[in-house]
Amino acid sequence: MSYFRPAIDAMTGYVPGEQPKSGIKVIKLNTNENPYPPSPKVIAALQNIDSDALRRYPDPFAHEFCQAVSEVMGVPADWVIVGNGSDDVLNILIRACAEGFERKVVYPMPTYVLYRTLSAMQPAEVVEVPYGDNFQLPIEQLVAANGAVTFIASPNSPSGHVVPLADLRQLARLVSGIVVIDEAYVDFAEGSALELVKEFDNVIVLRTLSKGYSLAGLRLGFGIAKPQLLAGLFKVKDSYNIDAIAISMGTAAMRDQSYKQDCAEKVKISRSQLTKDLRNLGFKVFESHGNFVLATPAKGNAAEIYLKLKELGILVRYFNQEGLADKLRITVGTDEQNQALIEALGNL
Ligand code: PMP
Repeated sequence: MSYFRPAIDAMTGYVPGEQPKSGIKVIKLNTNENPYPPSPKVIAALQNIDSDALRRYPDPFAHEFCQAVSEVMGVPADWVIVGNGSDDVLNILIRACAEGFERKVVYPMPTYVLYRTLSAMQPAEVVEVPYGDNFQLPIEQLVAANGAVTFIASPNSPSGHVVPLADLRQLARLVSGIVVIDEAYVDFAEGSALELVKEFDNVIVLRTLSKGYSLAGLRLGFGIAKPQLLAGLFKVKDSYNIDAIAISMGTAAMRDQSYKQDCAEKVKISRSQLTKDLRNLGFKVFESHGNFVLATPAKGNAAEIYLKLKELGILVRYFNQEGLADKLRITVGTDEQNQALIEALGNL
């Protein structure tokens, strides 16, 4: 006898990247956080929260934040759904759209593991389609899988590649279900697929403040789609899924685009250097458009390297799954952190 539904007994829970033990200083390059602090305007917004904003329930639709998104991204404010991190929006999407065999979840592999976890919880059948050579989007197979929801992360994690806009457009045209374009890492890439939400009724683009805006601890993400698509999602979302502090700080972050862009530029420059340095050490490194790189060691195995780095107080993410055998995903840190990593690797 189990206390839980069979789907929960059968599933594997999502395993987040390790957190350093309190009091221990580590170089944390394992969960794709931004190495720079959030905008000073975000901290000022926190200091200015008045007690009434805390006494009351927050605005269930975070209008103030949606208005800022609208002005920055050139979409109407009622095309925005806000979540407790973009993970919350992913969860809402699966709960609203997917169920069993008839309403499948489809995505190319390798990609963000949470898509699988959330589907298992629902439960909804998943169809995982392997990416082609050089991460070519397998459009035909994705369409044939006939998902109620099809997830495409672009830039993708952990590979770091960007899916060409033309491929996303073709996919959106050919599938009957919803296409979710998860742009968690878009602030470190060139371009975006945002224009597709204007062209298609079935496309939603997801963004987060966790990466580009250095606010992973705040938990704020959002989706942009036409109101008809959002209507079903609003029925599913928790009434007060984002708190008053997050709305206030998130709005300040959204309104300080130049700070975010400056930090992203620094990360991109460091990413090129880190890629070069890893290649000089013999690693095979994929060209990344995120704030991380995926590296395969030329000698030794990644599992061993991951453990040795951990002993030295440097946390990176180890991957060993189908299509991703024995690899390290390394978040781009400050130049100092990246240098410490390179030195440690050089000395292994
Ligand atoms: N999508 C992708 C592809 C991610 O890697 C992450 C971060 N783990 C997220 C979404 C979720 O980000 P958050 O919930 O912090 O907004």
